[in-house]
Amino acid sequence: MKPAIFTYRRPATLHEALKLLEETGDEGKVIAGGQSLVPMMNMRLARPEYLVDINDLDDLRYIHPFEEGIDIGSLTRHDELERSAILRRLCPIVPTAAHFIGHYAIRQRGTIGGSMAHADPAAELPLLAVLLDATLTIASLDNTRSQTAREFFLSMYTTDLQPNEILTAVRFPVIPPDSGWSFKEFSRRAGDFALVSAACTMQLNSSGSVEQLHLALGGADLIPISVDASIASFIGERPDARWRQAVAKAALNDLEPMSDVHASTQDRLDWLALTVDQVLTQSSLRANVEIGEQASHTPEEEKL
Ligand SMILES: Cc1cc2nc3c(=O)[nH]c(=O)nc-3n(C[C@H](O)[C@H](O)[C@H](O)COP(=O)(O)OP(=O)(O)OC[C@H]3O[C@@H](n4cnc5c(N)ncnc54)[C@H](O)[C@@H]3O)c2cc1C
Repeated sequence: MKPAIFTYRRPATLHEALKLLEETGDEGKVIAGGQSLVPMMNMRLARPEYLVDINDLDDLRYIHPFEEGIDIGSLTRHDELERSAILRRLCPIVPTAAHFIGHYAIRQRGTIGGSMAHADPAAELPLLAVLLDATLTIASLDNTRSQTAREFFLSMYTTDLQPNEILTAVRFPVIPPDSGWSFKEFSRRAGDFALVSAACTMQLNSSGSVEQLHLALGGADLIPISVDASIASFIGERPDARWRQAVAKAALNDLEPMSDVHASTQDRLDWLALTVDQVLTQSSLRANVEIGEQASHTPEEEKL
């Protein structure tokens, strides 16, 4: 199918792009990698009158580490996240999960900003943003604001972004070198959208008990969710098999994932239980073995 007629604009600066969005109001739409928007336009599920192409805004393409985190420009491609040496060192769960986004060709074009703005409940990067409580920077013509990922996602394909705004950056915290981490997803074939996913970070104390624990789930609700509150009482215990089972049970308590042609609610719950067990196991193993390697906070910017 072909998209409905639209007017194409390709601004050279962020200011110009924001001015265009201000002028076009509800009829204008940003296009970044086009990997979600173009299929939707082809199927006439989206019919913007104006497309504001931000691909010339090179200022939005960077991976920039600082004292406690890493700023990532919204136009950074999934493939660049996957290959980033800085992210592998300071926040390795991001390149690991980016590898699971679609296929190579999709990762060459799709962007982190597009993934956040599209807000698919099974998408990898929004899940990590919720797990790590990333901060998003959002610009309009006369304002720049910050918002946490946990407030940004409102419902399936719905965020707090306004039509006159552009998401300019995503800030992830550094994962401490003595912290275990893991990302796992369940899909029917490699490259397919995940049916469910889970991501975890965990710190152990010197006696091997859990000191810090964060867990987020994808495909469990209309948005990626943090289940930290449901599992807080398990901190302080040793992460053995009995503990993992109890954490998974508490994490999934009261959840009712959707049922559709791809999987029933019960299928999704069963796969979530397995996936949670996998991320807890891998995180506890990494928390044990990866102690000692000190992350470097060299304030260099990566050439993309
Ligand atoms: C076959 C196939 C398989 C895929 N598999 C996966 C997968 O497994 N996991 C996954 O996460 N994704 C998957 N995708 C989607 C892909 O990752 C997209 O790249 C991503 O969802 C959107 O990024 P984009 O840059 O292409 O955004 P676009 O398609 O250009 O835009 C998507 C939406 O975001 C808005 N937008 C984009 N950038 C900004 C910005 N900076 N500020 C404000 N609004 C913005 C657009 O207006 C639009 O509404 C798949 C796509 C295809 C075609």
